[in-house]
Amino acid sequence: MKNNIDLSGMNRREAMKLLAAGSATGLLGLFSPPEARAESHVTPSWAKGVPPVKIKSVKAIATAPEGSNLVIVKVETTEPGLYGLGCATFTQRATAVVSAIKDYLNDFCAGKDVDNIEDMWQSAYVSSYWRNGPVLNNALCGIDEALWDIKGKRANMPVYQLLGGKCRIAVDCYAHASGPTPEILADRVRQFMDQGFRHVRIQLGGYGGVGTVEQKPDYREAGFGREEDMFMDQGIYLKRVPEIFDYVRKTCGEKVELLHDIHERIDPLDAINLIKRLEQYRPFFIEDPFSPENMLWFRNLRAATTVPIAMGELFNNINEFRDYMADRLFDYIRVHISQIGGITPAMKIARLGEWFSVKTAWHGPGDVSPVGHAANAHIDLAVWNFGIQESHFWSEKAQAVFPGCQTYKNGYMYINEAPGLGVDINEKEAAKYPIGTKSNWTLRKGDGTIIRP
Ligand code: MG
Repeated sequence: MKNNIDLSGMNRREAMKLLAAGSATGLLGLFSPPEARAESHVTPSWAKGVPPVKIKSVKAIATAPEGSNLVIVKVETTEPGLYGLGCATFTQRATAVVSAIKDYLNDFCAGKDVDNIEDMWQSAYVSSYWRNGPVLNNALCGIDEALWDIKGKRANMPVYQLLGGKCRIAVDCYAHASGPTPEILADRVRQFMDQGFRHVRIQLGGYGGVGTVEQKPDYREAGFGREEDMFMDQGIYLKRVPEIFDYVRKTCGEKVELLHDIHERIDPLDAINLIKRLEQYRPFFIEDPFSPENMLWFRNLRAATTVPIAMGELFNNINEFRDYMADRLFDYIRVHISQIGGITPAMKIARLGEWFSVKTAWHGPGDVSPVGHAANAHIDLAVWNFGIQESHFWSEKAQAVFPGCQTYKNGYMYINEAPGLGVDINEKEAAKYPIGTKSNWTLRKGDGTIIRP
């Protein structure tokens, strides 16, 4: 025996019996002096834990204070006043997520223990047998994040503490600059630099330069498609992107990091050639060069250039990109956390990235709710391999609906440090902004061919 246990007073059989029984208290008694033995029966207040709490009900709250559909899940518990909030925002199909919560997951969750987040995730993930797509993953994320929120409130700690504590002072962010001309775009980049931002994503017009080309597309003249369908001239886009990088780099200097989102809108070889041309302007990263259907092109891209690549806004499941991460074929994880099912899978992806020097860059536009942005930020604070965070500046309307919204100073995002995720919802305010059911991602070439966004 390595431990200094005096077994001389009992025979060998009695001693072995006691040790084999594995009784913690029995062993503790043997290891401790008599005074400590008496004290060991008194549990200090900080070690008492919290009494068990069950889920009472789960409901979805849909609201659009800034025009984008947002869906929030509220998990209410058997403990009066204790509830959690999670983001379930699939803005393009919001009412489908509301139905998944109301018609299926409320019943599935009621009566379960609020503490067992991993078990809830695993059981809900397979509860419809076929693996989740974006609707069910968003619904699951709402529940997952709400349970993390509840766990933080029960522990009286912000969620980042439960994920390991802070690795940094705040969350370094990038801002979006867009303009109709390189000159106006560069002015906007300088404005963000003056506010303290060290990273700015640049683009001309909408994604793919949409809205900056005046010509009338042939398909529209021919009455093909719908009036609201968007038109993209891929040739003009490919010419203009190096021009804006050149102009902004020359006029704004080397102190700012420049980012750009291709948004999967060009053919794979065009994307590779474009990124090679951008190499001289030292981009911080280029985002989503290929649609999810074109993942095998990553090997060609890596062989052609060393520009850092962010990827993954359209991913639904880690199995779609695990091998690409492990093969170091991209550098930043661009996942939309509610799209993959919440904090629980996002932490696994972040930890996996640490092994392969792949950093986080969670999706964070205005169609992620303030609750979802809080989830992004709590992970950003807690994981070592944080890369950068997309920022969104909340309007007064959104702040009235969601007390505890994130704030920005000197290019950093700061969270509300209240226990849990730190963001609440004012349901009366939320009801003032009903959601809509129209969304338009139809994008066409001049002849009318659909471009995959
Ligand atoms: Mg994107």
